[in-house]
Amino acid sequence: MKPLLREVWACPDCHGALAASAEEVCCLVCGRGYPIVQGVPVLLTGGATAAPRPVEHHHGMSERLRRWSMPPATSYRRRADREKLPAFVQGLGRAARVLNVGAKETDLGEHVLNLDLGPFSGVDLVGDAVSLPLQDESMDAVITQGVLEHVRHPEWAVAEIRRVLRPGGLTYHEVPFIQGYHADPTDYQRFTLDGVAALFDGFEVMERGIVAGPSSALSWVLREYLAILFSFNNPVLYALGKRAFGWLTAPVKYLDALVVGSRYAPKIASALYLIARKPEAPTVGTTVHP
Ligand SMILES: [Zn+2]
Repeated sequence: MKPLLREVWACPDCHGALAASAEEVCCLVCGRGYPIVQGVPVLLTGGATAAPRPVEHHHGMSERLRRWSMPPATSYRRRADREKLPAFVQGLGRAARVLNVGAKETDLGEHVLNLDLGPFSGVDLVGDAVSLPLQDESMDAVITQGVLEHVRHPEWAVAEIRRVLRPGGLTYHEVPFIQGYHADPTDYQRFTLDGVAALFDGFEVMERGIVAGPSSALSWVLREYLAILFSFNNPVLYALGKRAFGWLTAPVKYLDALVVGSRYAPKIASALYLIARKPEAPTVGTTVHP
C-alpha cells in the first residue's frame, strides 16, 4: 500500500475517516467495512464487489494464432502527444498528490494513486469514478486517460473530481472523439473539444487539443467498416476481417504526421485532451451535481 493512500483515503459512502486492519478497512464514522483483496482495498459503495478482469471472446481462435495475428494499434501519436500525460505529471513535481482514475497498470510514479474498478495489477485502490473513496480537497491533480467514455454519467465523475481536488488543483483528461465502439466493460459516449470543456464547466480551461488525429480515426473506421462489410454477419469472418483489414489499413494512421497539426484536425480527430484548473474560490451559481 502506497503511504499516500492512507493520507487521503475516505469512506466512499460518507467520506468519513478509515482505519485499516490486515484484511479489512473500516469507516470510523458510519461503521461500514470494506475488504482488502490481493492487498488492494476495495472501497466501493453499497456493498458492490470488485470487477473481474474482462473476458475476451476469440471465437475459437487459438491463443497463439490470436497473438500472432493481432494487428497494430489504429492510432499514431507523435512523440509529443505520447508524452503529454507523463510530462503533465512530471510538471506537478514529486510532492504532488495525484489520482489516476481508471489507471489499470499505468505507472506514473509513487505519488500517483491508481484507482480502478478491480484489483488489477498496478491498482492501488478499487473505487468507482462517481463515488471516489477520497477526502475532500485532498488531491493536487486528477487524471483520466480513455476513461470518461466508459462512465455512464461522466458529469457525476466530474463532480467527484471537483470535490477531491484542492482549490487551484489541476485535472488532465484524454477522451475519444471519432473512434469505434470499444467496451470496457461498456462504452457510453464520445466528446468534441467543446463537449469535454463543457463537462468541466466552472473550471478554467488551461489547454486543450488533439492527442490522436483524423488519420488515426480513419484507420480505425476503415478497419471496422471493412470487417463489417466482409463479415456477412458471421462472427468468425468478422474476427478474421478485423485482423486482415487491421494490417491492411494500419499504415493510414501515419498520415497523421501530415494532418494532426491542421487547424481543421479537431473536426474528425480520434482523441482529444483537456487540462483544466479548479477555481481557487467557489464560483457563485455553480451547479453541484449529486
Ligand atoms: Zn462511512
